[in-house]
Amino acid sequence: MSEQQAVSTGNESGASDFIREIINEDIRQGKYLPHQIRTRFPPEPNGYLHIGHVKAICIDFDIAAEYGGRCNLRMDDTNPGKEDIEYVNAIEEDIKWLGYQWDGPTKFASDYFPQMYEYALTMIKLGLAYVDDQSAEEIRQNRGTLTVPGQESPYRQRSVAENLDLFTRMKDGEFPDGSKVLRAKIDMSSPNINMRDPVMYRILHQPHHRTGSEWCIYPMYDWAHGLEDAIEGITHSLCTLEFENHRPLYDWFLEPLPVHRPQQIEFSRLSLNYTITSKRKLLRLVQERHVSGWDDPRMPTICGMRRRGYTPESLRTFVKQVGITKFTGITDASVLENCLREDLNQRAARYMAVLRPLKVCITNYPEGQIDWLDAVNNPERPEDGTRKIPFGRNIYIDQDDFREVPPPKYFRLAPGAEVRLRWGYFITCQEVIKDADGQVCELRCTYDPETRGGTAPDGRKVRGTIHWVEASHAVTASVRLYDRLFSKENPDDCEEGQDFCDNLNPDSLTVLTDCKLESSLAELPPETRVQFERVGYFCSDRYEHQPGQPVFNRTVSLKDTWAKIEKKHA
Ligand code: ATP
Ligand code: MG
Repeated sequence: MSEQQAVSTGNESGASDFIREIINEDIRQGKYLPHQIRTRFPPEPNGYLHIGHVKAICIDFDIAAEYGGRCNLRMDDTNPGKEDIEYVNAIEEDIKWLGYQWDGPTKFASDYFPQMYEYALTMIKLGLAYVDDQSAEEIRQNRGTLTVPGQESPYRQRSVAENLDLFTRMKDGEFPDGSKVLRAKIDMSSPNINMRDPVMYRILHQPHHRTGSEWCIYPMYDWAHGLEDAIEGITHSLCTLEFENHRPLYDWFLEPLPVHRPQQIEFSRLSLNYTITSKRKLLRLVQERHVSGWDDPRMPTICGMRRRGYTPESLRTFVKQVGITKFTGITDASVLENCLREDLNQRAARYMAVLRPLKVCITNYPEGQIDWLDAVNNPERPEDGTRKIPFGRNIYIDQDDFREVPPPKYFRLAPGAEVRLRWGYFITCQEVIKDADGQVCELRCTYDPETRGGTAPDGRKVRGTIHWVEASHAVTASVRLYDRLFSKENPDDCEEGQDFCDNLNPDSLTVLTDCKLESSLAELPPETRVQFERVGYFCSDRYEHQPGQPVFNRTVSLKDTWAKIEKKHA
């Protein structure tokens, strides 16, 4: 099957893709039984997982599950300097939160260091690897280019015995960093630069977060990765397209060794506009304090999106929608936001919250009296029932819902205008009170007692319905409004001498501290996702939200929802 055909086999339907086709074919040919399919997700624990990783995670875990196979979680921890146990723990937590469980305990590439070392000795004995004394710079210079073949190292013809001796002494710590490497002996004039005697081991006198100072030589990715897959019995090693040119090397390393032979298959990376998906760059945002941490709700990290209010389901649906192909493309961030909206629309309970409060006194409503009105919790889930909300003489509405001089087609409150209070009564604005600075600080309105529940017995219509909160029961909250972190569609598109940090959106965070909420919102546990009617979807903050001191993060704005509600009432 050609790649062209493979790509067009209906990813849209979620039914199949070229990876599943390859696996199906392997099963048809008797290479594996379905339950023997084994995949792995192999993050390097040098940062937190991001939306790009979600794609890889879903592919690896979903495919294994579909065949009744297994998926490993393996920390690809071969770079001692940048890796840390903090990242290991976060990665595990994020994957579990997404709803996946890996097979057995978490695996670590570093657990295979002794085995890898033995295989390296085998490679030397087979005449397939040699110790090179050239510096990193010399090796780079002698590698050649796409058009110029590389130069063979003067150390390439060392005998097996000498190589064994030197490599053993490298391992035993006799040589300083950078003084020697172990290289594969392949072909310095290969058209594939990866095949020009790639480095297999370098000397690094650096402690490792798991092996301590046991090792001072560390394996390079290409050498290590295939072995990790082989040792674990991975059948299909799924990775992103940048490894396509490394596949001949992946196969070359395994071929002479007495090991299982996994098949590497590459798919295109996920890229989103207005978003950065590189751990290195995300780390810079954290280190330079452009964000509050890896879990800042503006970050495209799993923990950031979680804190923002994303559901695991919405992320998984998104990955399915994007599909698996070999074509590199940029996905619109709104595709992700729409998956989130659709999911939250189903599951989020509705509440009323006034973010920028304006006092309203209902002058013909008795002082001290509270009327308990019925409000529907979630129109998408009638089984979620209704709740009682208080109505009284003093309420808050949003400043946005009043205009002293209304523009055309403004159907909300204005002097003399009548609107419906959601779940409540019709009110009419009789008087506008201003403070010393001439700012509107209060409205005096009257209500029509006949309109309880939202309809007038005389059939009179109002065009606008606004949300509100009764003042004496309201709780004051902090609400954080998030916008895109970058103002450029491609954050890396910058002027000379600038970088992606210069494209940060200065308005990506607005903190409102005097928001008025329905009191039941203050009692919700952290990480509860709700809809503030007409305003958007919000999530109680995972860390800062407390009973009586609510803190909510805006997950995503609403879209068209209110238009529908107005129609229903009209
Ligand atoms: P980064 O560039 O952010 O550091 P990485 O590829 O170096 O990413 P790893 O920890 O090595 O990060 O990635 C683990 C797995 O996730 C790899 O198999 C990699 O191919 C996959 N992956 C990483 N980024 C993406 C992405 N944007 N889309 C799909 N898969 C990805
Ligand atoms: Mg990597």
